[in-house]
Amino acid sequence: MFTKGSKVYGITRMKCPRCHEGDLFESKNAYDFKNMAKMHEECPVCKQSFSPEPNFYYGAMYVSYAYSVALFVAVYVISAVFLDLGIWATISLLAGVLLVLSPYLFRLSRSTYIHIFVKYDKNALG
Ligand SMILES: [Zn+2]
Repeated sequence: MFTKGSKVYGITRMKCPRCHEGDLFESKNAYDFKNMAKMHEECPVCKQSFSPEPNFYYGAMYVSYAYSVALFVAVYVISAVFLDLGIWATISLLAGVLLVLSPYLFRLSRSTYIHIFVKYDKNALG
């Protein structure tokens, strides 16, 4: 379903938006805190630039905000509605989940943001 060429594939696997082959980030592990934000300057495979303009990824903050709100709502519904936890347990769970997932959300937001502006090109490697 989410095969190479689909936006979801490229975004979730943090691949180059143009060829879906090269990695966006230098380290594959989002929890490698020293190298968490280090991105390749350009795609190692097709040479697509990963920073098309200065401060390109500032806009990714809005994407991050959207993901955080979605996660917040999901965790809240699970916690308060399905698990019937109290308000402090719910708040603690929300804080914990956001804290634990923040490195992943950071990368996911950047990946989503560049995929908004750069289209997949199946002939990028040809
Ligand atoms: Zn590429």
